[in-house]
Amino acid sequence: MTGKIIKGIAGFYYVHDGKSRLYECKAKGVFRNKKIKPLVGDDVEFSVLDEEELTGNIDRILPRKNALVRPAAANVDQAMVVFSITHPAPNLNLLDRFLVMMERQQVPVVICFNKVDLCEGDLMEQYGQIYRQAGYEVEFISTVDKRGLDRVRERLQGKTTVLAGPSGVGKSSLTNELHPDAAMETGDISRKIERGKHTTRHSQLFHIGEDTFMMDTPGFSSMYVEDLEAGELKEYFPEFAAFEEGCKFLGCVHVGEKVCGVKEALSQGKLARSRYDNYLLMYQELKNKRRY
Ligand code: GDP
Ligand code: ZN
Repeated sequence: MTGKIIKGIAGFYYVHDGKSRLYECKAKGVFRNKKIKPLVGDDVEFSVLDEEELTGNIDRILPRKNALVRPAAANVDQAMVVFSITHPAPNLNLLDRFLVMMERQQVPVVICFNKVDLCEGDLMEQYGQIYRQAGYEVEFISTVDKRGLDRVRERLQGKTTVLAGPSGVGKSSLTNELHPDAAMETGDISRKIERGKHTTRHSQLFHIGEDTFMMDTPGFSSMYVEDLEAGELKEYFPEFAAFEEGCKFLGCVHVGEKVCGVKEALSQGKLARSRYDNYLLMYQELKNKRRY
């Protein structure tokens, strides 16, 4: 059989068959003498030991498509980041940091602005403009009047998605809409290992539909960009590339240079001010090697 590791606790791996069953597996013999450590998200071949008890043994980890460091997970297809469009207003600096982190790991991002039922004025156009111009997929949703939720379901279908966003923006409400019994599933796992107190903040995937998984990411607010040279940062703002041929200096970082296609585009309104300002902030931080 093949399945996906959705959680690992205390020497056990919980392997979902993608449809309805969850097997508690050991990994006897697989990882010995090997550098590869099983990760949440790993697709595995496993043998069923007991079809009643739903226990098994993992025989092999299938080749990984990717392996993220933060959050630690394998085979992530995309990230979905949620902010509320208002109440509170989105922290675009935090959002842009997150986008840089995902660009670095080559994970495509869908940006969801929630609470559009509270939205006044042209906020949707404003934010849609900034982020679609930057090349991202943007959805506007409301977990209250259910707007946009079908589009979100479509985007998730058949994929493994990392869900991120600060607290208070409606992530739990969204998770509930997508998968009403997620909480129960967590309970199932803890009951299975009979150690209810042990369930804390290890990363875990939730099965939310056939071959469809989602992972909640804790610790979003403490996000900072690290291990990056200031001069590399521009590579992770994908919308800059189109204007770089207007830069006079090879290796232009679009900060103090006099003849700069990116700054030119900015002054012509072809690039979003907030994106550039957040680029500058991150650039200076990396120059000073200060942590956010
Ligand atoms: P989380 O901290 O990101 O998990 O956010 P919650 O799901 O707990 O939601 C935070 C607050 O926002 C709660 O009071 C929710 O009722 C409210 N909320 C969530 N989604 C919406 C929405 O689409 N519209 C409105 N008006 N409120 C929402
Ligand atoms: Zn430049």
